[in-house]
Amino acid sequence: MNEARETLRLAGIAEESIVDGPGLRYVVFVQGCPHRCAGCHNPRTHDPLGGYDIDGAELISRFQSCVRDNPLISGVTLSGGEPFAQARQLLPFARFIRELGFDLWIYTGWTIEEILSRLDPYETALLGCADALVDGRFESGKRTLDMSFVGSANQRIIRREEIKYRTSGPCPEPWQGTCSPHPL
Ligand code: SF4
Repeated sequence: MNEARETLRLAGIAEESIVDGPGLRYVVFVQGCPHRCAGCHNPRTHDPLGGYDIDGAELISRFQSCVRDNPLISGVTLSGGEPFAQARQLLPFARFIRELGFDLWIYTGWTIEEILSRLDPYETALLGCADALVDGRFESGKRTLDMSFVGSANQRIIRREEIKYRTSGPCPEPWQGTCSPHPL
């Protein structure tokens, strides 16, 4: 199967954002979130049947067109919804972003420990593409305005070096030898 032909379910795309990571960023909001955090800022993304379908190749094409028009975009963020619920579908796009040299941030309601414990090859490979992972559910009792790029104090910004360290253990099949930390 041509991976770039995978169909993704999206809630929307923000072509210019300054609140979803450093610098000016292209943000892909995926549709569907199993976490259902109380006080979620984006509840319309919860229903996996909401949003719209987009072909993976079309997503890449739209991104290319956007950065051609706006050279100030320096990074891409995958947010949601829950990006790791569509890890297989997002992987070609994430790899493409990395190949072009853009900084990639990924938001997730799972902790990095929860993701790694599943030994899912696509989730591990997607994790390996990230320059930063913002992990953990939104906890309204720990809501904070004092920390950049997180909504509640339990959430962590885990940088590439730590991701690399955490993913340096045994690779799940079929990514033996290629999942640590960035398979490309
Ligand atoms: S993980 Fe994010 S999108 Fe999902 S319910 Fe929690 S705050 Fe909302």
